[in-house]
Amino acid sequence: QFERIGFIGLGNMGSRMADNLIKAGYSVVVHDVNHDVMKKFSDKGILTKNSPLEVAEASDAVITMLPSSAHVIDVYTGPKGMLNGGNLLRSWLFIDSSTIDPQTSRRLSAAVSNSNLNGDRGGCTSPAMLDAPVSGGVLSAETGSLTFMVGGSEEAYKSAKPLFLSMGKNVIYCGGPGNGSTAKICNNLSMAVCMLGVSEAFALGQSLGIAASTLTKIFNSSSARCWSSDTYNPVPGVMGGVPASRNYDGGFATKLMAKDLNLAAASAKEVGAKSPTTFVAKEM
Ligand code: NAD
Repeated sequence: QFERIGFIGLGNMGSRMADNLIKAGYSVVVHDVNHDVMKKFSDKGILTKNSPLEVAEASDAVITMLPSSAHVIDVYTGPKGMLNGGNLLRSWLFIDSSTIDPQTSRRLSAAVSNSNLNGDRGGCTSPAMLDAPVSGGVLSAETGSLTFMVGGSEEAYKSAKPLFLSMGKNVIYCGGPGNGSTAKICNNLSMAVCMLGVSEAFALGQSLGIAASTLTKIFNSSSARCWSSDTYNPVPGVMGGVPASRNYDGGFATKLMAKDLNLAAASAKEVGAKSPTTFVAKEM
């Protein structure tokens, strides 16, 4: 159904996701403000464009993977943004996989729905947007094993499923516009709070004289078991292949976690949710 796929934001995640679309046989056209990464793609024979609008004009569907809400707003509605083609769009599906706040996803989804398609794509006359952030880091992006959490119309979700499955192994439909972004920030909020709890418990346990490896065995067969205890243990030497066992090198950057907690805190304020541990985790 989709032949030409635009991809904007070729950073740590996006470059690998775009590579997987190319491997799956899609005809991909790319854009990034960083000319060095664009060159890597043009050297491989991939079509590059100088603005988001040019990408949208050349694609059936466009995927964005950008640092934050401000970048996504610029790429959609800025002077050379995808929606600035005189209100007539060639692309009929817009997928944003960046981690951003649900309010921005909802506003952009409405802006896309208020635009018109230039022509008719297989009976579809209006464009749609999906917010589809991912769980899984650079390694999952590379191996095509990301989890996508998708908000937007169910019809658009169904049509985009093959695209998601070219870049990931799990796709979960979360409901209307903004619900994918909501799922992502709630997941990362919960993960941050669990990681802080596990780290604090291990620090206390070790101060009281129990080995972290023993405490890990207890946690993992008891009620404290969670991803931070059984998959991403924060204590050096307890398990291999995690950042704690390579001097905290690599892994999910603290900067990105701080960004996600700021999004959770801002969303909590906006809807008047109390969320006390969100604010403690954000400060820490
Ligand atoms: P990154 O900084 O490596 O890549 C972002 C890319 O966007 C860069 O190449 C940058 O040049 C480009 N860019 C910025 N502004 C642009 C613009 N206006 N037009 C075109 N290109 C522009 O970031 P990343 O690590 O790939 O993360 C991307 C998103 O995915 C973020 O929202 C992040 O929170 C989320 N995420 C990251 C991870 C991870 O482990 N890195 C995991 C899950 C989700």
